Amino acid sequence: MPKNHPADDLASPQDLGWEEQEDASASSPTPSRVHPSERDAQQEEVQPYVQPEMPMSRTVSFRHSSCRRERDAVRDALVWVEGNTKRVDRWDRCGQGAMILQDAANPDRYSLRSMICRDRFCPTCSRERSRTIARHLASKIGDQLHRFITLTIRHSKERLEDLLTKLLHSFKELRRTRLWKKKVDGGCAFLEIKYSNGWHPHLHLITVGDYLPHDELAKEWLRITKDSSVVDIRLIRDPATTARYVAKYASKPLSRELIFQPRLLREAIRTLPGRKLLWTFGSWRGWRIHEEKDETVWLTVGPLDVWLKLADAGDAEALKIIGKLRRERKWQEEHET
Ligand SMILES: [Zn+2]
Repeated sequence: MPKNHPADDLASPQDLGWEEQEDASASSPTPSRVHPSERDAQQEEVQPYVQPEMPMSRTVSFRHSSCRRERDAVRDALVWVEGNTKRVDRWDRCGQGAMILQDAANPDRYSLRSMICRDRFCPTCSRERSRTIARHLASKIGDQLHRFITLTIRHSKERLEDLLTKLLHSFKELRRTRLWKKKVDGGCAFLEIKYSNGWHPHLHLITVGDYLPHDELAKEWLRITKDSSVVDIRLIRDPATTARYVAKYASKPLSRELIFQPRLLREAIRTLPGRKLLWTFGSWRGWRIHEEKDETVWLTVGPLDVWLKLADAGDAEALKIIGKLRRERKWQEEHET
């Protein structure tokens, strides 16, 4: 069976065309004929930490109702690392201007559309993105057997930056091996970072291809990394399991316990710009994992803040709509964590 895929090549994961680059550090190009002092003057000044000037609007609170503490902690770290940049401004506006939409084909189904920050650390935006990726992946995989593979590197006191470089370099090496080329057609990779007495970056992979013996993979991984042999392989037969797995790992680079440890969180935020969190390889390379068409015809029902006020006043229709939206969000949260 031919397994030598041109895409299993020497490219770094960082070069695989993954479009997820939301960091504010990717700023506009520097003019070439500008004196250094002028360039300094154009940069955004780093301001001391301040709370948002305006109290959080009700629509913003509604969007982030389940993760307020988490979001505040990440915002603090972003301001600490980058100052009050446009990124923080976008962060504060995530959820503003929310409109309620109704599914034209199913009038009992409502949704919200608002400004969103799309920041890789925004828990709400991440959850929505995971959901899209999970649906898109499930439709790509269909009934095909696929595998979840986890690659870890040995716990260490090294800097996160060095461990990440080692992990990604080792994965690139692994994809060059005969074993990998023979057994794995392609797939996608998610980066996850944990901390427990040291940094633990992992790669979670979804792959399609042949049976990959655990012992052989562990041996190759140990040979490449020199000190790590912990790998996990699971065969998956149903798309529902994939969807759960993806919702858990995709687009959530930092595990929850890190969020409330400011020093570690800041190190992670400093280290991750320019790093891809999710990418495809092998026969899946070039497949745009985020892009899912929503065929639903949505009708506009009105601004969320107006409907919230109507619900406060006891309006029956408003109570019904707001109740449905709240239950929908709660259900999603309970089934995705
Ligand atoms: Zn957001």
